[in-house]
Amino acid sequence: MRVIFLDFDGVLNRETDAIDEESELWTAAWLESDLVERLARLVASTGAKVVVSSSWRQRRSLAELADILAERGYPGGVHDVTARLPRSEEGEQHVRATEIAAWLTAHPEVANWIILDDERDLGPLAHRHVWTDPSVGLSEQNLVEARALLLG
Ligand SMILES: [Mg+2]
Repeated sequence: MRVIFLDFDGVLNRETDAIDEESELWTAAWLESDLVERLARLVASTGAKVVVSSSWRQRRSLAELADILAERGYPGGVHDVTARLPRSEEGEQHVRATEIAAWLTAHPEVANWIILDDERDLGPLAHRHVWTDPSVGLSEQNLVEARALLLG
């Protein structure tokens, strides 16, 4: 089994996007179709399952997250979300890595996995981190990198 741990902001949208102030937070309106379709191509070419590690998982259920992604061009569904652990002075990014590590410990059947995230430093999981530039989002170069790790 292959898994993509998926962040949303800075991966499926760009920080430079003009945000529609009228649109509700944590809806498909905040994601970009071209970036979500790129995710769809990555999944189609690797057979990977999507596990959401984004903070969106606190705002939306698994089914809602799947609907939001489907609305923007990824109909493949969401397999799971990582568990929420308490935040400390270490900051968000190290906790996120700990949450992902905990999910992996609970799922030894996972052979290959990657993290798509615009955070700079994912500590001990850096070797499986495909960093996205938050001003660009998920890029074609990211897909090449991601495929190599998932299929390698
Ligand atoms: Mg992000």
